[in-house]
Amino acid sequence: MQGTAQSIRAASMFELYVRTVWPLHRRFVKQRLSKRCAKCAASAAMISLDVNGICALCQKPTSNTSASPSQVAQETTAVAEILRAHQGQGQGAYDALVAYSGGKDSSYLIRRIQTEFSGLRLLAFTMDNGFMSPVAKENIEELLPKLGVDHLFIRPRREFYVSLFRYCLTHLNKEGGYGTVDFSDGEFMLDSARELAAERRIPLILCGYSRYQVQNGLRLHGFESPRERELCDRVDTAGLSLADIFPDEIDRKRWWQASRHPPEAVARLLFPLYAWNLEESEIKNQVTAWGLLRKTAQSPIVTNHRLIPLLGVVDVHQLGYSSFEIELCRMVREGKADRREWQRVFELLEHSAKTGLFVRTLVLDSLAELGLTPADVRVPF
Ligand SMILES: [Zn+2]
Repeated sequence: MQGTAQSIRAASMFELYVRTVWPLHRRFVKQRLSKRCAKCAASAAMISLDVNGICALCQKPTSNTSASPSQVAQETTAVAEILRAHQGQGQGAYDALVAYSGGKDSSYLIRRIQTEFSGLRLLAFTMDNGFMSPVAKENIEELLPKLGVDHLFIRPRREFYVSLFRYCLTHLNKEGGYGTVDFSDGEFMLDSARELAAERRIPLILCGYSRYQVQNGLRLHGFESPRERELCDRVDTAGLSLADIFPDEIDRKRWWQASRHPPEAVARLLFPLYAWNLEESEIKNQVTAWGLLRKTAQSPIVTNHRLIPLLGVVDVHQLGYSSFEIELCRMVREGKADRREWQRVFELLEHSAKTGLFVRTLVLDSLAELGLTPADVRVPF
């Protein structure tokens, strides 16, 4: 695909620069960078800092959002009961449809289900939104034979995603690119799963979102999406009306329309990792032990969505920081990510967004792919 080799090269250059040159370069441009929390690297544009340069979230004693061991045990048992009861029970060829991104969480989910519930007939699926990184695709091609699972790629026509991303990017909500573009991408992935499961009479959908992603992204507080939510027709995403995003009714009807199906054909949507509540390191170690992780370390900048650099730059110009920083700063506060390492990435992104360093061509090409100009998203280059 056009521009992909270039985007990988730019991302690799960016990462090399962060580690080697930026620690020196930043001394000369420090005055023009946002102040950041000395503990979690959160930008002063995101949250106010006190006289000691500490943000409000770092001052509070850590509000523990994670579950107690007894709650985890209880929820793990409840999920196991559902999965066990569905083994061999689907009316068609499958009992559960699993969302598969090629990342470690969804690889972990599939292998653990295969190990503990070997009678559950799985169909994995991956959404190809036309902006997948080629590295992510290679991961999937390499891992699927190892997982030994039936798999489908779902790829709607290109104009569908171009319309969605173009509209979202020019109508960002207060949660920026992450909460608008990335969120809608995830919502459409789940809607496609709902439709596929209903059509093929698959009674369960399994998604590998973490407890944090379910609580903060989907605003759900349980391992299963409430039944009334699954039985609702979709009318909006990220606070934007589908009628405004898609002039074409065919594209609006691609989203979940529960009313087209009898209620008994509507699958239950479960998030098993919510119940299991594992540390990132536990998942990583287990996936490595299973031989399901590539040896070469891969950063999310190279493996994710090709639009990530564009989203980051637009966020810096509209919010003052990249909306992806919110989750990463939380991980720093919880001791799951390194402050110095991520502070360098955030700072270089801020500098690049303002000067165009490394990202200029990438951003202009991504905008052109979406049929947008820099002025449409208030980027001054
Ligand atoms: Zn902080």
